Amino acid sequence: MKKTVLIIGSGIGGLSTAVRLLSKGYDVKIYEKEKTIGGRTNQLVHRPFTFDLTASILMNRDIYEEVFCDANLDYKNYIEFIKVDPIYRSFYSDGTFYDFTRDLVSLIKNLESISTEAAIGYMKFLSEVYERYTIANDHFLQHSFERPLDFFKISSIVNALKTKAFSTSHQLISEYVKDEKLQKFLYYQSLYVGISPYEGPSIYTLVPVVSQLYGLWHLKGGMYSYVKALEKVIYQLGGVIETNYAVDEIIISGHKAVGIKSKEKADVFGDIVISNADFPYTMDTLIKSDIQKGKYTASKLDDLKYTCSTFIIYLGLRKKYPQLSVHNLYLNEDFKENIDDAFTGHLPTNPSFYIYCPTKVDDSMAENDGECISIVVRVPNLFFRNITWNEDTVKFMRNKTISALKNIPGLEDIEENIAYENYLTPQNLKDSFNSYGGTAFGLSPTLTQTNYFRPHLKSDNVKNLYFVGSSVHPGPGVSIVLLSSKLVVQEILKDDSL
Ligand SMILES: Cc1cc2nc3c(=O)[nH]c(=O)nc-3n(C[C@H](O)[C@H](O)[C@H](O)COP(=O)(O)OP(=O)(O)OC[C@H]3O[C@@H](n4cnc5c(N)ncnc54)[C@H](O)[C@@H]3O)c2cc1C
Repeated sequence: MKKTVLIIGSGIGGLSTAVRLLSKGYDVKIYEKEKTIGGRTNQLVHRPFTFDLTASILMNRDIYEEVFCDANLDYKNYIEFIKVDPIYRSFYSDGTFYDFTRDLVSLIKNLESISTEAAIGYMKFLSEVYERYTIANDHFLQHSFERPLDFFKISSIVNALKTKAFSTSHQLISEYVKDEKLQKFLYYQSLYVGISPYEGPSIYTLVPVVSQLYGLWHLKGGMYSYVKALEKVIYQLGGVIETNYAVDEIIISGHKAVGIKSKEKADVFGDIVISNADFPYTMDTLIKSDIQKGKYTASKLDDLKYTCSTFIIYLGLRKKYPQLSVHNLYLNEDFKENIDDAFTGHLPTNPSFYIYCPTKVDDSMAENDGECISIVVRVPNLFFRNITWNEDTVKFMRNKTISALKNIPGLEDIEENIAYENYLTPQNLKDSFNSYGGTAFGLSPTLTQTNYFRPHLKSDNVKNLYFVGSSVHPGPGVSIVLLSSKLVVQEILKDDSL
């Protein structure tokens, strides 16, 4: 008889796990607290504008395709990739900008316009990190670490040492790249997993390197079209998605997960429960008994390290801004101080930020011949209790950010051309998606919270209970969460074959 799998949450992790399990013959039902699916990878629609709520940078395209391939489907029937080139435009407060193209010839010319040393340093940096990335990908990202022996073996230790992850991103980048503007460009991207480039392990320099070497992509209709595509497959394969269903408890009987409980809806029973809700939130709220929480008790959750959060401004604009590319960075003065602010409980007063302008390549996201842009600023998570996200806080961050944005040549009149404006705060991430502490990326992927040391995909204490998403192995980001779904399904299939 088919086994029934209950998935809590319809984030990227929940949806992709559903597709993979349905294609293996499981009966899958997803329960989502919100009225829309997708979790943090969501959408904000205010006609004529369509905004991706959070994720926008699509790296590792093959991992997105693989979900369809694993279900014996052709991704081309569901999603359309558009090449992004240049991958980034980085603007500086002195009015200059650099383009990072996919084409090596123009990339080298752009780098040489800084200096030959800058070009040599950048290429050496790419080569060094590329080698480390191949090791990390082959030996860590594609493996689950459920048992101590999966990690604590000579080959793993040797490979871990080869990734030389003990230095910080800042140390590694500054060893090769001496130009300050280029350094800022690389430091900023190491922030994408929500840890400081000045403290986080140098392995996250793989973010700029993978983007440069494998390219970035845009999905027609925005990142949310991936969510819609997964939803379509789930229905085609006979899966069920119930929205507006907030799970309050995972029902555990005799150390076995047997169902889910909701205050407002009927209990549901199944053979396997997978929580895609943020792992620390799951432990804190959905699992009631300390014995079943295992080591993730309230005090352990307090001791863990969490990623920073983000403040986002969404602007629907009346006219086009040709100065912008799809992915842009504005790298301000006092760069380090303002990045440190996000990790020390301060609001940045001179922020650096990322600007996403999908309408550059995708007219479907603004049907008014204008532009829709999102400006994403790193800010402290809600564990810093000195900041309350009220109207004044939003106004402060909004004004600081917009005034910096107007420093970009050609964007001076942007404020006069705003047709629609909205915001996302850390509090929204917590309230809407139960993102623990309102973080953007869940648990910090520090060395002591990575691989075997990150929460596992399978409960150590409760049978038939699994986890998928940003805060479990391998870590945050859409493509990495897709890997977490691949690994959790492998674990389930392994357990079922025993
Ligand atoms: C501002 C920002 C920018 C980002 N940019 C990028 C980017 O450019 N590229 C990239 O690859 N990644 C990016 N990311 C990361 C990426 O968005 C996340 O890693 C990914 O969306 C997380 O997916 P998930 O499956 O782990 O969980 P989530 O998206 O958190 O989904 C969990 C789901 O569970 C639901 N849920 C929670 N509690 C319950 C409950 N009790 N009952 C029922 N349902 C529940 C939630 O509502 C949610 O739908 C960004 C993230 C943020 C916040």
